[in-house]
Amino acid sequence: MEDAIVLYPSAGMGHLISMVELAKLILKHYSLFSIKVLVCASPSISPDATTKYIASVSTTTPSVVFHHLPTAPLPPDSSLKVEQLAYELSCLNNPNLRHALRTILETSQIKAFILDFFNDVAFDVTDELKIPTYYFYTSSASSLTVFLYFPTLHRSTKEDFKDIKKLPEIPGWSSFPASNMPEVLHVRNSYIYRRLLESAEKFTKSKGILVNTFESLEKRAVSSLVEGLCVPDGHTPPIYCVGPLISTNEITEHECLSWLSTQPSKSVVFLCFGSMGMLSAKQLMEMAIGLENSGHGFLWVVRNPPADNTKQSVSGVAEEPNLDELLPQGFLDRTRDRGMVVMSWAPQVAVLNHDSVGGFVTHCGWNSILEAICAGVPMLAWPLYAEQKMNKASLVEEAKVALPLDELEDGLVSAGELEKRVRELMESDTGKQVRERILTFRNEVGPSMEKDGSSVTALAKFIDQIQVSSVA
Ligand code: UDP
Repeated sequence: MEDAIVLYPSAGMGHLISMVELAKLILKHYSLFSIKVLVCASPSISPDATTKYIASVSTTTPSVVFHHLPTAPLPPDSSLKVEQLAYELSCLNNPNLRHALRTILETSQIKAFILDFFNDVAFDVTDELKIPTYYFYTSSASSLTVFLYFPTLHRSTKEDFKDIKKLPEIPGWSSFPASNMPEVLHVRNSYIYRRLLESAEKFTKSKGILVNTFESLEKRAVSSLVEGLCVPDGHTPPIYCVGPLISTNEITEHECLSWLSTQPSKSVVFLCFGSMGMLSAKQLMEMAIGLENSGHGFLWVVRNPPADNTKQSVSGVAEEPNLDELLPQGFLDRTRDRGMVVMSWAPQVAVLNHDSVGGFVTHCGWNSILEAICAGVPMLAWPLYAEQKMNKASLVEEAKVALPLDELEDGLVSAGELEKRVRELMESDTGKQVRERILTFRNEVGPSMEKDGSSVTALAKFIDQIQVSSVA
């Protein structure tokens, strides 16, 4: 029988990519394990991108084996939030998961089953099959402190988070306004709130939590987690900070990369809002004005505005935007020499690593943040959804590798605010300090991922634990 580690990412490219990078890290250091990734196919979350990505990994790293779980199509409910969709998918997949694990068990001893946050309903299956189960948390340690503390917060408050002026203190944070809570948690009596509450409690059932971060980036949050402060009346499983794990299967040819090569070193601000971020038509207009007035170079990924007021699209990138309608008249001509607009998608890792890029306006998705840190590009933080406000707070206040972009009361970032912050990042002493800070962190990434570095040492501890746990 071979020893296997089985990974179970939830639907969505960001989750799949970082799980696959975890698989590669394990294989690099412990090639004796066979690694299997169970892919929960989704009819609506980036199916084409997922297929292409898996094909490319299978070619470059054939030792990572993918098992595709069949899934029934979901009802085409456009109001379904991404979090709910991810849960529904994993519930539907439980019978398929049981079947897949039973098949794997015929030839392998599963030393560890590592699941993603949204797939925790899989505990029903792994408990039954007596498989040691771990989490891979694909976001910041700072947001993990809040999720682990969420049941305590729930018990100590009565109102909806959206109505609470001051929250009780959260371990790992010097201050935490209730408005930093993800929007899906604002109302207590919602399906997602109750589901996430159950999820937060389930963390403590696991044998350990791997986190996609490195210790020196989030010292305070990591020590609160390790000291067990976030689960005051329970047990915190061992925490393993094994990051940063970012995509290494990256495109190297794209017209925007050729364009960047015509621009001066560190002169261009890159604006990109993750795989699902969307901005209203009014917001796009304000941005164009702000960018034009800033006088700085820019590479801007523009998507069609959403039909409703949402900032997040479940169905991924849809139709190409009509730039003539969305941007101010003559904008593209006037900024031709120093600006480029890309429709819907750019090869972000390659862009961030291009010498011409000097700043990054980001929606604060954790993968984007890690990619910027690894490239040493300072950020302007503009969170849109999920746990991104917490990531912003941690980047701006704790790590100090980003400047904030402040919204008006109606949620709009004005042209004036964008212009001011772009100038601050690219021209001022404050911007220079942020750049120096991020370069310090970038220089820590390499050593943390080398033998005896903090992340590889954490991985070694995890491997020791799975050997012991599966014997016990
Ligand atoms: N991404 C990209 N090009 C784009 C938009 C996104 O390559 O135009 C990649 C980005 O590099 C990152 C991922 O998509 O790896 C987005 O993950 P993140 O966690 O930042 O945000 P999410 O999409 O989960 O909100």
